[in-house]
Amino acid sequence: MAAAAQAATGSVVSARIDTAALIDNARTVAARVAPAQLMAVVKADAYGHSTDIVAPALYAAGLRDFAVATVPEAVALSQLLGPDSGARILCWLFDPAADLTVCTRAGIELGISTPEALEAAIAAGRATGRSQDVHLKLDTGLGRNGLSLSQLDTVLERLRALAAESSIAAGAQATTGTPTIGTATAGTARTAGTAATGTIGTAGPPTSAPVRVTGIMTHFANADIPGDPATADQLHRFDSLYGRLQAELPSDLRADDLRVTLANSPAALSLDPVPGSHVRAGVILYGLSPFENRTAAQLGLTPVMTLTSRVLNVKDVPAGQGASYGLTYRAAHDTRFALVAGGYGDGLPRIAGNRGEVTVRGRRYPIVGRIAMDQMVLDIGPAETGGEVAIGDEVVVIGDGTTGPSAEEWAAWCETINYEIVTCISPRVDRIAVGAPGEAAAGEAANGAHPAADHTRGGGR
Ligand SMILES: *Cc1c(COP(=O)(O)O)cnc(C)c1O
Repeated sequence: MAAAAQAATGSVVSARIDTAALIDNARTVAARVAPAQLMAVVKADAYGHSTDIVAPALYAAGLRDFAVATVPEAVALSQLLGPDSGARILCWLFDPAADLTVCTRAGIELGISTPEALEAAIAAGRATGRSQDVHLKLDTGLGRNGLSLSQLDTVLERLRALAAESSIAAGAQATTGTPTIGTATAGTARTAGTAATGTIGTAGPPTSAPVRVTGIMTHFANADIPGDPATADQLHRFDSLYGRLQAELPSDLRADDLRVTLANSPAALSLDPVPGSHVRAGVILYGLSPFENRTAAQLGLTPVMTLTSRVLNVKDVPAGQGASYGLTYRAAHDTRFALVAGGYGDGLPRIAGNRGEVTVRGRRYPIVGRIAMDQMVLDIGPAETGGEVAIGDEVVVIGDGTTGPSAEEWAAWCETINYEIVTCISPRVDRIAVGAPGEAAAGEAANGAHPAADHTRGGGR
């Protein structure tokens, strides 16, 4: 198919994904959290930005630690990056009744939040004759997933039993090295985190154990409210559990380069020092603020996604003309309506009708009436006093606040958070990689299927 024909068949609503901004954000975050390192969270199709674009771009920039939520996401990412990539992929939300051998074979790490999940990991290790790598996920106060105290007791007991079995099976092969976690003076998670340098590369001890603990993690409830006492409570609880694990985790069953991860995006930007060996950061990589009262720009971040559409109709309408289903808006005077492609079928919440705005030729216009599945209406004012808007004009639906409304503005109109706005942009919308040298032009002509794989491969960014 010719390039022009391909462009014509792409979706009218499309998301430009700026990989240069992505890499800049990742570097900004990495500098902020050092000596902790960055683990990039690319779940939910990289928060709607396309894992196919985002993950190879981060990988090309040198990133090796990735996290997703589900096993299918982890498997897809593993296949995308390839078997010899050296990337480490962690996922933490799965059904313990599922067959996890696909993870063991691909070297995908599993976050363990229940004794049942540990059993599933052990079963996968046994079935493959390999060792399934696991991160123990501790509930330190979020009250969502993660091991409770009694669940942790069960898990530790199971690991001790397993270590005893394994050392019998393996004879005198047990490691004699000093595990990273057992630093002599480590009394807090902070100490442990900052001490965990040089975490890349060492393979675990030879072991016949079906599981190996390669990480310990917890997740904050209120890190988006800097100074909230719940975060200090969680850090405190993590410290004491971490001390317990130092004492009780069988040394044969843990990696030397144990990774300790606590911080999500808001914690990575607000805690000083940043706890843990790595931060699990998602939303800030995409240039979005995790704080209600701080903009991305104030945090030194650049939004990665620009969602654009086009004006498909412009017409004069008389005073009293209603707009869209329900006729919930009526023109106060003679005016013009512009029709823009894009609706809730593209992930733009219906609730933003009669609230939101979009930008055409640098000027904001109100979305009037209900947002439909596929389209929305703007009141662009009468020809004499309104803006110049023509059929075919580009519309910036989501921009950086200047180019077009920010994801944060959309979140306010929709009574939600910026995370949900970008993550819910639907699969109907093509994601087009731009940003690396030569990508912009290629991106224009791409059909949006999987442009990133091509664009990022030779980028060397
Ligand atoms: C989604 C998620 C993250 C990333 O959160 P951000 O606020 O986007 O950085 C980290 N850890 C866990 C367990 C998560 O579910």
